[in-house]
Amino acid sequence: MIEKRNFYINGSWVPPKNPKDIEVINPATEKNCAVISLGSKEDINDAVLAAKEAFKTWGFTSKEERLSLLEVFYSLYKKRWNDITDAIIQEMGAPKDFASKLQTGTGASHTKSFIRYLKEFEFEKPLGDHAKNQRIIYEPKGVCALITPWNWPINQVTLKVIPALASGCTMILKPSELAPLSAMIIAELIDEAKFPKGVFNLVNGDGEITGDALTSHPDVNMISFTGSTRAGALISQNAAKDFKRVSLELGGKGANIIFEDADAEAIERGAFRCFRNSGQSCNAPTRMLVEKSIYNEAIKRLRKYTNEFKVDDPNKNGEHIGPVISETQFNKIQGLIQKGIDEGAKLVAGGVGKPNGLNDGYYVKPTVFADVKNEMEIARTEIFGPVLSVIPFETEEEAIKIANDTDYGLTNYIQTQDKEKVQRVARKLRSGMVDVNGAGIAVDAPFGGFKHSGIGREAGKEGLLEFLEVKSVGGWN
Ligand code: NAD
Repeated sequence: MIEKRNFYINGSWVPPKNPKDIEVINPATEKNCAVISLGSKEDINDAVLAAKEAFKTWGFTSKEERLSLLEVFYSLYKKRWNDITDAIIQEMGAPKDFASKLQTGTGASHTKSFIRYLKEFEFEKPLGDHAKNQRIIYEPKGVCALITPWNWPINQVTLKVIPALASGCTMILKPSELAPLSAMIIAELIDEAKFPKGVFNLVNGDGEITGDALTSHPDVNMISFTGSTRAGALISQNAAKDFKRVSLELGGKGANIIFEDADAEAIERGAFRCFRNSGQSCNAPTRMLVEKSIYNEAIKRLRKYTNEFKVDDPNKNGEHIGPVISETQFNKIQGLIQKGIDEGAKLVAGGVGKPNGLNDGYYVKPTVFADVKNEMEIARTEIFGPVLSVIPFETEEEAIKIANDTDYGLTNYIQTQDKEKVQRVARKLRSGMVDVNGAGIAVDAPFGGFKHSGIGREAGKEGLLEFLEVKSVGGWN
């Protein structure tokens, strides 16, 4: 078993002040694969103090200095690709090919993209040709608390750590206690790249003690959080006490509007995007809205596709999905599938229980419900499992109304060949992102949501700006 009890504070791996172990469970075997420590208030104090000290110099480094360290980090990341992938397979059960190409892959593409944006970014410029004497200066926000979840562990870590480093902030990363192993490799890479001590610190721990100590610490200037809406609200309350800057990436309940002129693969592609990563993506299209004229045909195709959809061991190659993260999530998903049946939705494929032959591990059957009403709990709650709710609609207006009738507003999807309809509907959807005909959202496009899906944007230039304060100086020249 891997022992990873130490924290990375002020440039060294140090033991916890008040040792408290927790096992990391491999969701494919239900057995522990590593042991880590839960950080205490004292460990957080040490890490914040280190970050505060380091900010005094790191906050005033040149862009070139930060760029050269980030380039070293990027080349080291590529060398440890297989280690990162193995850690992700073990800690959260993502299947091999998916873990390598997408999970580890996004870490590399975000790093590369932030390096490009940092090269182009002007930290100082005149307000405009009309006001050359007015200077606009972008400065790092300071000490940042970065809190990440388990579902896309490295994607989330790099979306926060890399722009924080690029902007000149210092930081304390608290990765998910359920999936901390890949994040600890990032700490090793930062150490190897020789970032100055105290710039990056990692303390493992839970939300209740470690996360709370971090987000309520008076010397933390900014919090960047990804995870549940529940935790996002608690963190915002902590932040409000002393006006910490807050960036939140929370849940979603995306609608995928399938018009009758959708392309031939739209139905299956929609189900695939819902089931991918075992349904554990905030931007998953979990409500499929289908135009009445093609509804029966869509349900027939979804039944076939879902019954043939493979769930299997993450250590095997292939396009299958693996288990969900934990027993708690497994039970929550089972409860919601049962709720869908009890509420009167029509079970088309899947259902409660584990897929055949997969008795050990938190495996869930890919499940499709038809005739779902948008008021039902399965259409309102973020299930975070491979469960698709299909809802019929008759008109474009009705589809938009159903899509927007949710607390969330992260990603919605449109499938139609009619370009005018695409643009008309995209403008009316209340979400931070709209994905049309499977085009995908670019790696450097602003990522984030409206309403309960969060505050702020990650990735690309917007993701860099999240870590910067703006200063206006009059009478510069
Ligand atoms: P969570 O929000 O409880 O945990 C995510 C991270 O926040 C972890 O690092 C956790 O330790 C930390 N955390 C939890 N409570 C905290 C607090 N009070 N203060 C500071 N940090 C805190 O998420 P979860 O319990 O692992 O998952 C539950 C649900 O959250 C899922 O079913 C899903 O709906 C949602 N979720 C969404 C995303 C996303 O990407 N939007 C990611 C993970 C989970």
